[in-house]
Amino acid sequence: MAAANASYALPPLPEYTLRPQPSLFSWISDEAVAGALPVIVYWAVSLFYHVIDVYDVFPQYRIHTPAEVLKRNHVSRYEVFRDVIIQQIIQTLGALALGWWDDLAQVGKTDYDIAWYAQKLRLVQRAVPVVLSAVGVNSVALAAKVAASHPAAAGVLRGGLYAGESMAPAFASWELTVANALYWYAIPALQFAAAIVVMDSWEYMMHRMMHVNKWLYVTFHSRHHRLYVPYAYGALYNHPIEGLLMDTAGAGFSYLVTGLTVRQSWFFFSISTIKTVLDHSGYDFPWDPVHWIFPNNAAYHDIHHQSWGIKSNFSQPFFIWWDRMLGTMYTGDIKEKYERQRRTAEQKLAQEEENRGKTLAVEMTPPTATAVETAEDNARPQQISAPRSTRRKASSISQSPADNFKGLRNKMNESLHGKRANVLGVESSH
Ligand SMILES: [Zn+2]
Ligand SMILES: [Zn+2]
Repeated sequence: MAAANASYALPPLPEYTLRPQPSLFSWISDEAVAGALPVIVYWAVSLFYHVIDVYDVFPQYRIHTPAEVLKRNHVSRYEVFRDVIIQQIIQTLGALALGWWDDLAQVGKTDYDIAWYAQKLRLVQRAVPVVLSAVGVNSVALAAKVAASHPAAAGVLRGGLYAGESMAPAFASWELTVANALYWYAIPALQFAAAIVVMDSWEYMMHRMMHVNKWLYVTFHSRHHRLYVPYAYGALYNHPIEGLLMDTAGAGFSYLVTGLTVRQSWFFFSISTIKTVLDHSGYDFPWDPVHWIFPNNAAYHDIHHQSWGIKSNFSQPFFIWWDRMLGTMYTGDIKEKYERQRRTAEQKLAQEEENRGKTLAVEMTPPTATAVETAEDNARPQQISAPRSTRRKASSISQSPADNFKGLRNKMNESLHGKRANVLGVESSH
């Protein structure tokens, strides 16, 4: 048995030489991609939602009506756009700083790492005969019985002693297969899961703190809550300090503590960005696969944006276990509340339309019905193709001559809405 005993020696780990990892694309560093990707996916997904908003493609899946978008938000689309851009500049600088500060990615160690996992598997197998004998099974006899038909199983039963290893210890092929699966799939999956847990925890704690502490709420977080009817690109509409503390630092912390590589972070940051945009999209699609996977979704987060739900549903962006565990999940009936908000917004629009009609009728001479109609048409030259009558009515009301940013805002609306300028525009004075 001398030869057999000698083969209990562990298969050796290969030598390796580390070298800096070249960027995936020659024209941009991996760190710069990590900074740019979240911005690109943010606007790509937002643009999709903006288009279905403007053309009202899925009215049946809207959480709020267009009248609510117009009447209930306390911030203009231009201000939202501007502040999101500011936050994204800070976020990109943060990502670049992290890339600069973090160790340079190295390659050349893959075979070594896979062999390291295989070696640990071999060590675990040494416990098999001990465990089996504890329950009265003679593993050596069993191994002899199955050796011919199942050589790999016999090797495991012998505690990691494989036939043919007497000359030089080597890994069994199944050990290398499992080690490869661990290295390429299981460990990254665990890292992603851990990053999700860290990010969810960070966001929940910071978010709840922003609501519990009055000063923090008034100074920073109340800005995000000017959106009572969220829309996709309003997802990152925050005070810059809040954006830095909650989103940028949370993402950086998740990345660092879970040891994600820069390329893994491309996926993680992109997924978390997309998730945040979806949660503010204002659409509750029944066939959205992202919402099947993650219980935190647009309908869930929308409750937090309502005046009656603001003290609940703090969890974001992936799961809701913190709300569940700490009893901050909204449990009341929401149907009637949403209905009431819809009715109020519609009535407000109708009332304003009526008042406007009266004013114009007085101004017109002679005050004939035809003249009033003509005047109204002139007053809203950009609404002809707006898809809903409620929007047509609303957009005419939303023009405000007192807006300091009118010029810029109009430019924004032109670029975002095309000919439907200001279809969904709102004023900050509401
Ligand atoms: Zn909040
Ligand atoms: Zn929000």
